[in-house]
Amino acid sequence: MTAEIIDGRAFADRLRATVAEAVQAFVAAAGRKPGLAVVLVGQDPASEVYVRSKGKATIAAGMESFEHRLPDTAGQDELIALVEQLNADDRVDGILVQLPLPKDIDGKVVIAAIDPAKDVDGFHVANAGKLAVGEEALVPCTPLGCLLMLKERIGDLSGQDAVVIGRSNIVGKPMAQLLLQENCTVTVAHSRTRDLPAVVRRADIVVAAVGRPHMVKGDWLKPGATVIDVGINRVPAEEEGKTRLVGDVDFESAKATAGAITPVPGGVGPMTIAVLLRNTLVAAHARAGFVAPAQL
Ligand code: NAD
Repeated sequence: MTAEIIDGRAFADRLRATVAEAVQAFVAAAGRKPGLAVVLVGQDPASEVYVRSKGKATIAAGMESFEHRLPDTAGQDELIALVEQLNADDRVDGILVQLPLPKDIDGKVVIAAIDPAKDVDGFHVANAGKLAVGEEALVPCTPLGCLLMLKERIGDLSGQDAVVIGRSNIVGKPMAQLLLQENCTVTVAHSRTRDLPAVVRRADIVVAAVGRPHMVKGDWLKPGATVIDVGINRVPAEEEGKTRLVGDVDFESAKATAGAITPVPGGVGPMTIAVLLRNTLVAAHARAGFVAPAQL
């Protein structure tokens, strides 16, 4: 068997187009554009790239983009003061504080300062709690993107055996909650799980979010399983001095057993920004007292 390759870029393009269309309708009804504020502290090169592409994508979708940069000497109080200013700014529907933060800033305190109604990353405990009890919530972008791709590929997920590898607050845990809401039988595996290959072998759906290159091998998979590879790992390339990106799944061997698989790059990654735009628009609707369109 050769797995179907799930094209994350094409999927993200479709979602962006849906968002852009719904933005037009929002602007017509609300008389203003939805706005996303991104805050970057310091000069981490990878974060610079993410922030730039988030800004471009926001404008391309017809929304307002507000970029705030603080020097890495900025302290926690300065960052929280900025978050509070953005909480109070009516033009801002979504606030995203780019992680990682400099080491003397406590990310948890900063996230707690964000108005949960503007928490488009879905990291605030109020949103995590709502997701856990099945209430309307802003959900972290990466796992929501994974769920949207799974639903497009499989349809009804009810009764599927799903294994999520990784239990982080930003990927593994919300992913498990989302799959549970879709009536999957969910197992969360992690660094202390015994006999991981045997656990994975039960799964109709495997979501790998570990951060270990090529960890999940093809012979761990149930034939026909749908595999979502969240991992982004930089490894040495064949060409001297160069690097390349690989996932947590050993793509070459997995392709032979899986029914469908997301590649790295070009799978989950592109979905994340598209879902961020979607979350911003959903937040804008809620703040304006509108019902978000069903296609979002
Ligand atoms: P994390 O380091 O916070 O969590 C990793 C998880 O993996 C932990 O829960 C740990 O228990 C588990 N783990 C570690 N070793 C293991 C092992 N040997 N067996 C089983 N489980 C093990 O990481 P994260 O933030 O959840 O990110 C995971 C990966 O996803 C990283 O590669 C990250 O770069 C990537 N990521 C991608 C996107 C995207 O947009 N595509 C977004 C977020 C994270």
